[in-house]
Amino acid sequence: MFDIFSGIVERSEDGIVVIDKYHNIVYFNESAQKIFGYSLDEVIDQHMNILLPERFHLRHDLMIEEFSASSMECKHTGQRTRLIFGLRKDGTEFVTGTAIVRIESKFNRYYAAIVRDISEKKKTEEELLRLAATDPLTGAFNRREFTALADHEGVRSNRYNRSLSIMMLDLDHFKRLNDTYGHAAGDKALQRFTTLCCNTLRTIDIFGRWGGEEFVALLPETDAKGAVVIAERLRKTISQSVLIHNSQKIGITVSIGIAQYRSGETTIEAPLARADAAVYDAKKAGRNRISVYRDE
Ligand code: GH3
Ligand code: MG
Ligand code: MG
Repeated sequence: MFDIFSGIVERSEDGIVVIDKYHNIVYFNESAQKIFGYSLDEVIDQHMNILLPERFHLRHDLMIEEFSASSMECKHTGQRTRLIFGLRKDGTEFVTGTAIVRIESKFNRYYAAIVRDISEKKKTEEELLRLAATDPLTGAFNRREFTALADHEGVRSNRYNRSLSIMMLDLDHFKRLNDTYGHAAGDKALQRFTTLCCNTLRTIDIFGRWGGEEFVALLPETDAKGAVVIAERLRKTISQSVLIHNSQKIGITVSIGIAQYRSGETTIEAPLARADAAVYDAKKAGRNRISVYRDE
């Protein structure tokens, strides 16, 4: 029976590391050697800290002590709560999903860690989250993500009675730009516009693509007067930039509508509708300008 189990453990796809009560490594299967990049000789009798980034050494010791004092036989870590990192021989780190098992005999106590490299899975998860939140052409937040972030900020600002403003930004004569220079030039202009906006806005501001050539920006801690300053800076930056496409110089301009949240407003619908109305005014007034929604 023992041979069966040792065969399974030796050939398991998960890395299996067994340490004694001093936390020295007494067993290290083939997969562990592959995952961590150490040969067996290099790790046997070494303290298991060589497998962990230094900043986790203390925490890890405490975790094993805590586990040791508990009645649990097995503990899974790094799945839902905090991430556990492993350290390879070459100094690189990876994310692990690890289970620790206590093995007790009459005279000895061992801990076996079953280690899985989940870096790729984590990367995929993060990438999926990023893809779900952003617009593929420009990388700006998409409408759904912008709305979620803005509603969260709306609740916060309302609770603490802070000013909050929203801007709608609509590129001018964008259809004409596409018709004159082609769709690829239009796409490039949208990307450039996004970069300029993100560079010009403050880090606390939230920027998103509402759809087509319409963008939105949420400005926390900002009343209409402050929003005008930011919008004017944006408008000027955009109008002064020159896009080169197929050795042609293309200029773009934007019309910006501004609305301040009213007391009690937490969601974007009403303020955004006012910002949209203000964009309409800016267009009517000749484009490449900003307009603030005026309360009657
Ligand atoms: P106005 O100054 O009144 O805003 O005029 P406009 O031409 O910008 O407005 P309109 O809404 O009539 O046209 C928007 C254009 O934006 C039409 C559409 O083809 C173009 N557009 C929307 N999304 C994209 C995109 O992803 N790429 C490109 N290249 N063009 C896009
Ligand atoms: Mg439009
Ligand atoms: Mg437009």
